Amino acid sequence: MSQTTPADEIADDASTRPDGAEEVERKKPPLLELSDVVVRYGKIEALRGVSVTVHAGEIVTLIGANGAGKTTTLKTISGLRPVHSGDVRFQGESVVGLPAHELVALGISQAPEGRGIFPGMTVMENLEMGTYGRTRVPRAVIDQEIDHVFSLFPRLADRRTQSGGTLSGGEQQMLAIGRALLAAPKVLLLDEPSMGLAPQLVAQIFSIITEINRQGITILLVEQNAAQALRRAHRAYVLETGRVVKAAPAAELLADETVRNAYLGGNVES
Ligand code: ATP
Repeated sequence: MSQTTPADEIADDASTRPDGAEEVERKKPPLLELSDVVVRYGKIEALRGVSVTVHAGEIVTLIGANGAGKTTTLKTISGLRPVHSGDVRFQGESVVGLPAHELVALGISQAPEGRGIFPGMTVMENLEMGTYGRTRVPRAVIDQEIDHVFSLFPRLADRRTQSGGTLSGGEQQMLAIGRALLAAPKVLLLDEPSMGLAPQLVAQIFSIITEINRQGITILLVEQNAAQALRRAHRAYVLETGRVVKAAPAAELLADETVRNAYLGGNVES
């Protein structure tokens, strides 16, 4: 590994990981807490007793191989999969059984894997969809928030009248994140935001995730790109076949030989 890659540029130093979450962690109860959650698809037990805690201000990442249960964990938090047993608490209250739109209203917003944007709608219309349910918020505030999304993603600003389906993969990912932000989340659930992106865009998406967190939004991030995710996150959980097998500060997992061999190709620069 002699060439400089975008991954090298964000090597594990304090500058890639927002400060302060550990301090927040000590002072406040968890924003989001899964306790012993079991989720089934028919006879398949996708989550076999998952416990995950996310404190306000943190970036927490879930890493693990294909089929480990990462997406199912996010879908369960968003109310898209029913909980068989266990509890999901948001701001101290159980939210098990609440419909997805109520969870969005409470402050849980997801940018789904595969983006899930509306291909026939323009960029602007897609973003407006994100504000659904915020009918009491003054239009001027929504307009400011849309401007903020455009400042995070200038490529979207240039394409506001373009239909979502004609955007590049990276632009669609930006749109999905932008739309999720317009629900004014307290916690943003990101499912594979770097999937299918060119290396330069991967680095950009991760920088934006850090920026969104610095602006006060808690993030639960699911990533195949474990090296990048661990560099950005405060804490991480490793999932294996529906169970949490490790939970630690992200920097610790980045240095963990077993994790490096299993999920980072043995090389943190990869
Ligand atoms: P990947 O990284 O490949 O997206 P993942 O960690 O997100 O994987 P999940 O998508 O949560 O894993 O899947 C966990 C388990 O649940 C897998 O065994 C998967 O086959 C199963 N599963 C997921 N969705 C369904 C479904 N709709 N019907 C049946 N089984 C499912």
